[in-house]
Amino acid sequence: MPAVFTKEMKHTHTILLPDMLPVHFGLIQTVFALNGYKTELLTKSDRAVVDEGLQHVHNDTCYPALLVIGQFIDALKSGRFNPDKIAVMISQTGGGCRASNYLHLLRKALETEFPQIPVLSINFSGLERDSGFKITPKMFIQMLYCVLYGDILMNVRNHTRTYEIHKGDTDSKLHKWVILIERALKSGHYKDTKRYYNAILEDFAKIPLKNEKKPKVGIVGEIYVKYSPLANNHLEDFLISEGAEPIVPAFLDFCMYCAVNTVNDGIIYNFTDSKTIIFKAAYLFLLRKQREMIRVIKQHGQFEVPHDFEELRSNADKYFHQGVKMGEGWLIPAETAALMEHGVPNVVLTQPFGCLPNHIVAKGMMRTIRENYPEANVVAVDYDPGATKVNLENRIKLMLANIRN
Ligand code: SF4
Repeated sequence: MPAVFTKEMKHTHTILLPDMLPVHFGLIQTVFALNGYKTELLTKSDRAVVDEGLQHVHNDTCYPALLVIGQFIDALKSGRFNPDKIAVMISQTGGGCRASNYLHLLRKALETEFPQIPVLSINFSGLERDSGFKITPKMFIQMLYCVLYGDILMNVRNHTRTYEIHKGDTDSKLHKWVILIERALKSGHYKDTKRYYNAILEDFAKIPLKNEKKPKVGIVGEIYVKYSPLANNHLEDFLISEGAEPIVPAFLDFCMYCAVNTVNDGIIYNFTDSKTIIFKAAYLFLLRKQREMIRVIKQHGQFEVPHDFEELRSNADKYFHQGVKMGEGWLIPAETAALMEHGVPNVVLTQPFGCLPNHIVAKGMMRTIRENYPEANVVAVDYDPGATKVNLENRIKLMLANIRN
């Protein structure tokens, strides 16, 4: 029997979290702390993590699973933690894709050396109901606000880091805002989003920037590889070092994609249940919040305006049926097309090795995208444990060379 996280463990155990979105997950850690959980975010991103993953996960399996599991086992073996007081947390999408089974892969990897460690699932599909860990409605709302603040911070950070005159200005502003948002979460004032958005934009706009124009490069693809510096070899940093500005679609898009897929299921298969009703209400709430952020950023005028999710959906309709939702499904071509429509024809399509569904909806759509947008300069990069960093970077450099040509 796998170890189960009991209610008492909330007071005795530290939960290890994988690092998918450095800004967002840092904020989400505060939510856990406010609700009585002790957590530690794992940030190690060197080759040792990949090698550890290879010991436990077959290299035919999805690369994100290999990395997340490698990061956990590497941390556990480091001697920094008492395994009797540790739990690990992994997300499950609850859909048909293999991400729903990462939990079992992780349990299998822990089985021999760390059988006492409970594995927690973070999901919104009702999986793993018997665990003592529960996301309460209050935690859910707090996390949602962390996604919103994480998105706006990621957006402004990428712009100012590209152009900052004094290296480090952006990082110190980011650090300051993470602390301020943590304080807002603690004091309960975090729902005053408009005021915080405006203050963030104003503050980042004060950073002295170089007066030049660099090409924008969009990053789309599978959720983990798109955002995680461990998985994509610090792609945002690499693009900046090569003289480009990374444009990374909001994490909120993925949350809305998951919510609207449940609503679509009800429409496609002609049924209504409590899940479709709740997810529809959640989707409409998220859309309202997204539009509020878009309005504020547009009004300010200096930073990249995120895509409206309804615009993404209509872009998706040009290529796919919205029933195609395995993996990141219709979201990948929709985000690629939205970038093209918003004047960002240069796109890195990040794919994990072993990810069949996303190869179909992403690489499979490249020809159609190029036909519709002749200016498209798209490179698909497959991240896998055997590919060297130099090889992967060379592919991206070729795409960047196309811009200069
Ligand atoms: S989307 Fe790809 S990488 Fe993610 S679980 Fe599915 S097959 Fe694996």
